[in-house]
Amino acid sequence: GSEWQGKNVTVAGLGVSGISAARALAGLGASVTVVDGGSGEAHQERAASLESEGVSVRLGDADTLPEGTDLVVTSPGWKPSSPLFAAAAAAGVDVVGDVEIAWRLRGPDAAPWLAVTGTNGKTTTTRMLASILEAAGLRTAAVGNIGTPIVDVVLSEEPYDVLAVELSSYQLHWAPSLRAHSAAVLNLAPDHLDWHGSMEAYAADKGRVYEGNQIACVYNVADKVTEDLVREADVEEGCRAIGFTLNAPAPSQLGVVDGILVDRAFVPDRQKQAQELAEISDVQPPAPHNIANALAAAALARAFGVQATAVRDGLRAFRPDAHRIEHVADVAGVAYVDDSKATNTHAAEASLAAYESIVWIAGGLAKGATFDELVTKSAERLRGVVLIGADRELIREALARHAPEVPVVDLDRTDTGAMSEAVRRAAELARPGDTVLMAPACASMDMFTNYNKRGEAFADAVRELGSTSA
Ligand code: ADP
Repeated sequence: GSEWQGKNVTVAGLGVSGISAARALAGLGASVTVVDGGSGEAHQERAASLESEGVSVRLGDADTLPEGTDLVVTSPGWKPSSPLFAAAAAAGVDVVGDVEIAWRLRGPDAAPWLAVTGTNGKTTTTRMLASILEAAGLRTAAVGNIGTPIVDVVLSEEPYDVLAVELSSYQLHWAPSLRAHSAAVLNLAPDHLDWHGSMEAYAADKGRVYEGNQIACVYNVADKVTEDLVREADVEEGCRAIGFTLNAPAPSQLGVVDGILVDRAFVPDRQKQAQELAEISDVQPPAPHNIANALAAAALARAFGVQATAVRDGLRAFRPDAHRIEHVADVAGVAYVDDSKATNTHAAEASLAAYESIVWIAGGLAKGATFDELVTKSAERLRGVVLIGADRELIREALARHAPEVPVVDLDRTDTGAMSEAVRRAAELARPGDTVLMAPACASMDMFTNYNKRGEAFADAVRELGSTSA
């Protein structure tokens, strides 16, 4: 604690992670000021409660660096280009995130970290991993970008054997000294480029997760960039590169043979044996991208020494979170699936690949994305498309270029009620055996508060449809 005594720490952002970091550091004797640009009622309430605990709060100004700051702690969502960070850089003051704080406070003393990052599948894989570790009888928690703030977890009295840590590219950007036991980069596709500035900068931040790994760097054989990142990383002596693939695995890989997930990396004789882990049907949903997630989770668990039977039991016990390829209902022989969490083209591509004949509901905020590749790869499985949201024109143009024969209903609507009309129009296009898939490939904020609300609107609309058609 003494290293924090009397240190002047400025925390950027009065959100969940900012409040948790501020409390923890104040508890260790630091002199903490939280700054936030907001000044509404909710902010004032939170400020009052923190101030009663001895933390200073400055509302209404997020840009200027408080006098005498020794260290700045960021919150998710703050861009590297924020004026506060420019001011810190000019003053020679370090800027770090809550993950870095957690690491500096307890590091691996709390428990070894098994880290997961990637453009898509992070939450799913991290929770699969935690489920496997639990099945192995280990005391663990899924943390990082999910669950309890990581600073609270490493400081808690609870003894952990190992942590399953989901890390966003933002968190990695601000966590320079983190060293994981083992880590996986699931995949890399353009996303959040407005935040990072370029694909190179984004990849470099993701690649940070491998730096200093002790036991294994897990990469996606089908995504060469992830393998390149392993090669470029500076790791501990003896740390191994472990690939996962949906095909038969080479030595030092996990993969799939005849519908069975097998391990050829963590076996006594790497050349000869393949250890059976689980069946494809043990994974929910058994879509290809999700089998990849399961293999990555299994690789990290095996790197930690978990038995094959625990991998199987943990995968069987795992249930996906809401709005991730969630089967809502069957109406008139048509399946309705909510993948509202598909907020970018890479995620939507994965779920479109999981069905044969699809009426696709798409659109929203494109965040600078292009849709040509997604449409080209999915065209032959599209029965029809219903477009909603602000940037639907980008998708309509890509469809006109690459799938001119597919019927498109362009709802010129961005109000919340549009989802209900979209579902009705999709039902008209669908035939028995088809899937109506809401995987918008876009963010939701043009029409909804978040992707949860978008998913709920879809489910409500499907229920409406069910009750009128019955
Ligand atoms: P994240 O935490 O990275 O946002 P999630 O596990 O919440 O990832 O999944 C987000 C969406 O990404 C899912 O709804 C699904 O459509 C898609 N997805 C999940 N895993 C993968 C994967 N391995 N590759 C591509 N897309 C995926």
